[in-house]
Amino acid sequence: YSPYENKGLSYKDLTQVLLDTPKPEKAREWQQYYTAGPHLAGKNLSQAEWTRDRWVEFGVESGIVDYDIYINYPLGHRLALLEKADEGNFAFAEGNEGGLVERRKDKGNQKGGYKVKYECIMEEDVLPEDPTSGLDNRVPTFHGYSASGNATAQYVYVNFGTYKDFEDLQRANVSLKGNIAIAKYGGIFRGLKVKRAQELGMVGAVLYTDPQEDGEITEENGYKTYPNGPARNPSSVQRGSSQFLSIAPGDPTTPGYPSKPGVPRQDPHHAIPAIPSVPISYKDALPILRALNGHGPKAEDFNKFWQGGGLRYEGVEYNIGPSPSNLVLNLVNEQEYVTTPLWNVIGIINGTLQDEVIVLGNHRDAWIAGGAGDPNSGSAAMNELVRSFGVALSKGWKPLRTIVFASWDGEEYGLIGSTEWVEEYLPWLSKAAIAYINVDVAVRGSRFSAAAAPLLNKALYEATSVVQSPNQTIPGQTVRDLWDGHIRTMGSGSDFTAFQDFAGIPSVDIGFGGGGPGDAVYHYHSNYDSFAWMDKFADPDWTYHVAMTKVWALYAAALVETPVIAFNATDYAVELGTYLHSVKNLTTSSPHESIRSLPPFTLLENAISRLRNATATFDARAAALAVKISEGVSWWRWWRKAQLYAEVKRVNEGYKYLERKFLYEKGLDGRSWFKHVVFAPGIWTGYAGATYPGLVECVDSGDMEGVEVILCQVV
Ligand code: GLU
Ligand code: CA
Ligand code: ZN
Ligand code: ZN
Repeated sequence: YSPYENKGLSYKDLTQVLLDTPKPEKAREWQQYYTAGPHLAGKNLSQAEWTRDRWVEFGVESGIVDYDIYINYPLGHRLALLEKADEGNFAFAEGNEGGLVERRKDKGNQKGGYKVKYECIMEEDVLPEDPTSGLDNRVPTFHGYSASGNATAQYVYVNFGTYKDFEDLQRANVSLKGNIAIAKYGGIFRGLKVKRAQELGMVGAVLYTDPQEDGEITEENGYKTYPNGPARNPSSVQRGSSQFLSIAPGDPTTPGYPSKPGVPRQDPHHAIPAIPSVPISYKDALPILRALNGHGPKAEDFNKFWQGGGLRYEGVEYNIGPSPSNLVLNLVNEQEYVTTPLWNVIGIINGTLQDEVIVLGNHRDAWIAGGAGDPNSGSAAMNELVRSFGVALSKGWKPLRTIVFASWDGEEYGLIGSTEWVEEYLPWLSKAAIAYINVDVAVRGSRFSAAAAPLLNKALYEATSVVQSPNQTIPGQTVRDLWDGHIRTMGSGSDFTAFQDFAGIPSVDIGFGGGGPGDAVYHYHSNYDSFAWMDKFADPDWTYHVAMTKVWALYAAALVETPVIAFNATDYAVELGTYLHSVKNLTTSSPHESIRSLPPFTLLENAISRLRNATATFDARAAALAVKISEGVSWWRWWRKAQLYAEVKRVNEGYKYLERKFLYEKGLDGRSWFKHVVFAPGIWTGYAGATYPGLVECVDSGDMEGVEVILCQVV
């Protein structure tokens, strides 16, 4: 019995198939399908079935796995700037009778002593050049998991709405309680802006996209706006989830277990907001921000770290406010909450080894009819990936390890499809999973970007070194050649989270991001993340789609086929040392005396250095073994062969379970769903990762005892 040889197709031939099969016109075809109409979470069954049917056609056994999830759909919204006509009458915010439509008819009327100074449009312009922007059933602008409510209050400009921004405001005694926050998108995950506003007693949150986030490519700098040029269309709105992502992703009513029909449900409010929030465009934000001119300090005078934003050329002075008492916002958010099915498509290619599994995933649901970047560039790449592996199978390939393909639903609301699936299959995944490769937005620009568990770094450098880059300045340049090689630590914000942080499966997230030379501004979560935009601005040749498919395929192939798993454990140990270094820097600059005088982290340092030695030895042994395997053993030395294979199995188990060793059953304080002691989303960042999150949170809050408890557990 020799699992490590005799695949029906040599590794070289396999990689050739994976490089030859993906085609631009196919990627374009899949994209055209996915981006033709709305496919919100729980409303895309036909796309799930279509995806399953394609995968089956490609030769991969596939089916649909569903969950019953708690989710919201938009009914209506309003944001208006009101001016009090006469003092004393504060009766505008009437109840919900009549509904939004009725109230809208009243706009412009004097009502309850207020007159409407500006009524926000709250939807993107319909563009003839961009057909899905004008669909009758296009998705309204709203926040996933936002609370229904009707608030009328003065408002405060809170910069990015980070924890630190709110701290600065509190320190300066800016009145927050009872007021509405208006915050720029950017910096941190949006739901955490709403969370902090809520904790400070604010009654609503308005999030807008400031062109400051677009760097150089702005209208102000003379760039034409979409659809005529690469700059942001002023009416574009970023939808998105307002879930408290750093507390727990997944269905907020079933933390830690799958949302199967009939399971007990928890109160979701540990993980979703209680105050209403709405997203708006910068066009709609302008009158609201301008009305703050002269009220309260200007952002940059207020604090040297605040810089206002990019609408100065439109007459916005970025005062903090609060708005004067006669100037208020009326924020109405009406959401319907339901428990409804959602559909993951799962495909499987059984390998010779069924207890060694590589999972490859992308989400399918989008906020808008389009979603050409997010996520369907990934879905198109994934279909080409499945098709490529299907072609290899048809040529007789017998994979060594098992491959699972996943097309997730409900990522946008809170990584729901992937989280529920990992929660359901945890026992099996804990035993069998080797790695998870996520591609969310495959293409939004030309700059390769990656976040990874350190075990996977080496194989990523190798895979990117084999694939030709679409933007070669010198013939022959690979994706690796044009990438700075920077790999971010795993945070959150996409479907790798449950794999990495809950199940301890080394994960990676790759894509072509924005910000490269000549890249257009990305209309993230807006109607203009459309097929038309992709076809004209981001990937007119569809070659980035193809390059991403190839990187993904070769990365997966290396993990599936290399007899000794293509991990590097030393990289992990080295990174652990780097992370510790940054914790130490945190302690020396801490405002807490006790933390500053912390004894050095000798125990942890020693443990890391022991690990570094052990992993170096282990990797060397693995490398030697890999050489022996590749040299082959004559058939008649069967005992030698059996010995070698047993040794490979042992080494591979070492690699397979290494990441799992960093799980802590009880989870992190205050967010016990997160089980990994090295990686978690930053509690106040969401997207950006925190390393040694428990330790860092204790250091941040000056919790000496907590630091000691953690350090005493280091072995
Ligand atoms: N990619 C989604 C976003 O950034 C994730 C939402 C979530 O994790 O809650 O909005
Ligand atoms: Ca769950
Ligand atoms: Zn996405
Ligand atoms: Zn998204």
